[in-house]
Amino acid sequence: MKFVADGMLGRLTRWLRILGHDVKYSTTMADSQLIAVARREKRVLLTRDLELYKQATAKGVEVFYFQGLTGDEKLAEVSRRFNICMEIDLTVSRCSKCNAKLKQTAKEKVRGKIEENTLLHYDEFWKCPKCGQIYWQGSHWDGIRRTLESVKACLDASSD
Ligand SMILES: [Zn+2]
Repeated sequence: MKFVADGMLGRLTRWLRILGHDVKYSTTMADSQLIAVARREKRVLLTRDLELYKQATAKGVEVFYFQGLTGDEKLAEVSRRFNICMEIDLTVSRCSKCNAKLKQTAKEKVRGKIEENTLLHYDEFWKCPKCGQIYWQGSHWDGIRRTLESVKACLDASSD
């Protein structure tokens, strides 16, 4: 899926990118620019701004509006609406910071860029070709799994 998110949806943007979706995001884009990008690049506009939602709808742009939800609920809402799978597969992930597609990289190539200790414990690394951010499923991944579980719980609760 291709999205463009308004400036209030930074956390959601990072999640969608890691889940493999193309999300354009900027805190400086004006409403008219967001609508123009959505239309030109056939992206779904994600917004928390009711006025923007109304304007985009009037212009025939596909738009999804979030009402005062928590971060996990927002992710659950968007996954329900667009059938987004809550499993991370780094082979399809995009960089959470800049939206470029990650590339798997050899262990030797990340040596010196991350802690030696991490190199001892993990074998698979991905790198963003654009900003250089390195990704691996390390101990910090537990927090990521917990969030995904919490999102799945929101989905289950609302499907009853
Ligand atoms: Zn990047």
